[in-house]
Amino acid sequence: MSQLAEMGVDALRSTLEGPVLLPGDEGYDDARRLWNAAIDKHPGVIARCRTATDVSRAVLFARDHDLEIAVRGGAHNPGGSSGVDDGMMIDLSLLNEVTVDPVAKVARAGGGALLGQLDAAAQEYGLATPAGMISHTGVGGLTLGGGMGWLTRKFGLSIDNLTAVEIVTADGQIRRASDDENPDLFWAVRGGGGNFGVVTEFEFRLHEAGPMVQFGLAFWDLDRGADVLRTARTVIPNLPDDVNIVVGAISAPPAPFVPEELHFRPGYALIVIGFGSAEEHAGVLDEIRTAVPPLFEFASPMPYVGLQQMLDEANGWGFHAYDKGFYLDDFTDEAIAVITEYVPQKQSPGSVMLAYRLDGAYSKVPDDATAFSGSRRPGYGVFIVAVCPTPELLEHDRAWTRSFWDAMLPVSRGKGSYVNAISDLVDVDDRVRASYGPKYDRLAAIKATYDPDNLFHRNANIRPAATGS
Ligand code: FAD
Repeated sequence: MSQLAEMGVDALRSTLEGPVLLPGDEGYDDARRLWNAAIDKHPGVIARCRTATDVSRAVLFARDHDLEIAVRGGAHNPGGSSGVDDGMMIDLSLLNEVTVDPVAKVARAGGGALLGQLDAAAQEYGLATPAGMISHTGVGGLTLGGGMGWLTRKFGLSIDNLTAVEIVTADGQIRRASDDENPDLFWAVRGGGGNFGVVTEFEFRLHEAGPMVQFGLAFWDLDRGADVLRTARTVIPNLPDDVNIVVGAISAPPAPFVPEELHFRPGYALIVIGFGSAEEHAGVLDEIRTAVPPLFEFASPMPYVGLQQMLDEANGWGFHAYDKGFYLDDFTDEAIAVITEYVPQKQSPGSVMLAYRLDGAYSKVPDDATAFSGSRRPGYGVFIVAVCPTPELLEHDRAWTRSFWDAMLPVSRGKGSYVNAISDLVDVDDRVRASYGPKYDRLAAIKATYDPDNLFHRNANIRPAATGS
């Protein structure tokens, strides 16, 4: 950080409600930490904002002192986009209040709230909105990219349930965006990531869900991979609307319902979540069980909030991680051949391939209704995620992720993916453009209006269109 900026930090400190931290200050090392232990960033200054006005002042300070900006929501982005060396981290983790209006069925979440806080507050009233599968993920990053999870077949993406945002744009202004106010900006933030400003409040529509859901998991050995994926191909198109499914290549969890000798055994799993009746749910599991008898299975009712936390520990803070994503139309024989060749090559038990089923309510939203980086036609959003206890294992599984992804290119929808699965920060222009496809030019024009100097660029970056274009 420049001397000029260092001198100005005292002035910033005196105007912010939240603390401003410099290297060496108490709390600095905790505040700069990110979910992915493989990333170690040292911001020149951390503004721990408590209000939208704090955020506005921090943005203007960074702009005036030429500091690169990183916006930290839940700090989950595996590429470390919410951290920065030397520049300013705008840390939203203190801006995390969630309030629920159970009558209007609306939740308001601060820009730094975590999914677990949103889930818990809404479930107090038996309500929920679609969100991701790990409760310590930030509402911010997840929603701005789209937000897919267990409720996506039933109620769509998080952005399909977003009704308004409060956002600080690059000029420091605090704006509201909704269908009625700044509708261009509202369209862009629903899928365009953190490109358009710092969202200080999200407003979501809520639905009745839970408090109990039906959980089911069936697990097979690696050598049954092709059979399992072919079964998924036939079972999934006939799923009732109230059931969701994830097709996974995972290692068996060390859970009480898993025979001890199978703990950490790599294989394939179908995870089936029922939001309707136990009978409907049992029917789906029966069909799967009959087609290919699993190595073990488990079915039980569980609280919705528990479901949302089920993967937390396996993906806890402190792992070394890397990820890449792609879209798949279906488990074709060609796709199955690649998947079953690569899955056995992973080394860390935590490394996974997870295919989220995308259809139902997800597919009822027109492609151009939001800026979402993907087609709404039925298919799968697939993540390959290396999650490793040591840097050495990450070295192997990062290479595994990359080669697996390369091999999937010809048998998937190609380079374009869910932007929340683009974690690399360099050399990804072509992936970002492919992900947005024809929406990219509209996004670039909106970016030129609200962030012409590309102040917010530590993300799947949309370049501002040249002035006048
Ligand atoms: P951060 O690292 O804090 O932020 C990510 C990006 O968003 C950064 O560019 C940041 O600047 C920006 N940002 C964050 N908050 C704001 C804000 N309020 N205003 C403006 N910009 C902001 N995605 C799913 O949809 N569903 C899943 O189930 C899911 N599971 C995942 C599991 C794992 C193990 C991993 C690694 C990722 C998963 N993701 C999932 C992807 C996840 O949505 C992204 O990593 C997301 O960016 C994380 O958001 P965050 O706020 O925690 O991260």
